[in-house]
Amino acid sequence: METVIVKHCDNYDERLVDKKISQIFEELGGIGSFVKPGQKVLLKVNLLMDKPAEAMVTTHPLVVKAVAKLVRDAGANPVIGDSPGGPFSRILLERAYQKTGLKEIAEETGIELNYEIEQEKVSFDGKLNKSFVLGKFVTDAELVINLAKLKTHGLTMMTGAVKNLFGTVPGLLKAEYHLKMPRLADFSEMLVELALCVNPVLNIVDGIWGMEGEGPSAGRIRQFSYLFAGSSAFAVDTVLAYFLGINPVNRAPVIDAARKRGLCSSMEEIRLIGDELIPPGDVEIPLPVENSNLIDRRLPEGVSRILEPLLKPRPVFLPEKCTGCRVCYQSCPPQAIRMNHQKAEVVLDECIRCFCCQELCKYQAVKIKRPLLGKILTK
Ligand code: SF4
Ligand code: SF4
Repeated sequence: METVIVKHCDNYDERLVDKKISQIFEELGGIGSFVKPGQKVLLKVNLLMDKPAEAMVTTHPLVVKAVAKLVRDAGANPVIGDSPGGPFSRILLERAYQKTGLKEIAEETGIELNYEIEQEKVSFDGKLNKSFVLGKFVTDAELVINLAKLKTHGLTMMTGAVKNLFGTVPGLLKAEYHLKMPRLADFSEMLVELALCVNPVLNIVDGIWGMEGEGPSAGRIRQFSYLFAGSSAFAVDTVLAYFLGINPVNRAPVIDAARKRGLCSSMEEIRLIGDELIPPGDVEIPLPVENSNLIDRRLPEGVSRILEPLLKPRPVFLPEKCTGCRVCYQSCPPQAIRMNHQKAEVVLDECIRCFCCQELCKYQAVKIKRPLLGKILTK
């Protein structure tokens, strides 16, 4: 039976966070049961973009600091790392560490920040993937501790432990995975295989504050008041989906993919320990983006093509908010975005609805528009 630890923690007071993180490791048999002296341990944070910690887009630096100190006290060498959205470069990493507060905690504690931007291909015997290209900062580590952030997500409905590991794929290579697997079901399968490939020894999710609505970067910040932890990323995500109110939990496509492979149990079969978990019951969850497939399959192709614009969600670019930064343009997997007088525009016929543009736009200039008919038919 898989175990997930739940710790109530309602704010980022440093002493409180330290205490709760220590309790998590105590419940798991101590830091020594994961980490051995001398090991290089990657703390795989969520560093989606260069936003301050208060924006609740990235793993809070005090959660990272609490884990990093314990890893170091165990005699190991923690390294904080991630490949943020957009290009993977030293300059952009530097900016993201600075803005998110990770640089400050690294300077205070002497804990290393990753600046390695090379990549390495690793073999993987999966149904969909026979290899993955990962950042060398991942392959160089002897073990990985996954430090995710709890947020809703326009494509995958939520992001927790499993989706956080997509940041092990360096920079713009992420777009290739979207392009190769434009169907959400396949992309979710890929995320499951990636989680198996990276194989973190522990997954801790910062759900003290997170995001609801149009996450993972343009939603509303929301106090959730919990830390979650477990050795199975799939079990942790199942608990997160239950907590957020995704019902049934396998409506979340990544959990569905993991469940179909027998990789995660139902909520009833997961042992929860720690504090009582009380779901808020009113979290705003994005509607699934591929729900119109049900209708597509029942209709002749010509008809479903006509109906598609009425059913399918699409990205909408807001010129008044667009700064012309080109991040979406650089990251769009099928290059469906054009820059017109410093404003991003989409060619919908070329768009695969991966919603990377919405995820990566830090100016909230991209919205996901879900047509009313699609919403009604797929509720
Ligand atoms: S839509 Fe956002 S990410 Fe794209 S160019 Fe405009 S501001 Fe940048
Ligand atoms: S325009 Fe946006 S949603 Fe469409 S393919 Fe490009 S990044 Fe994905």
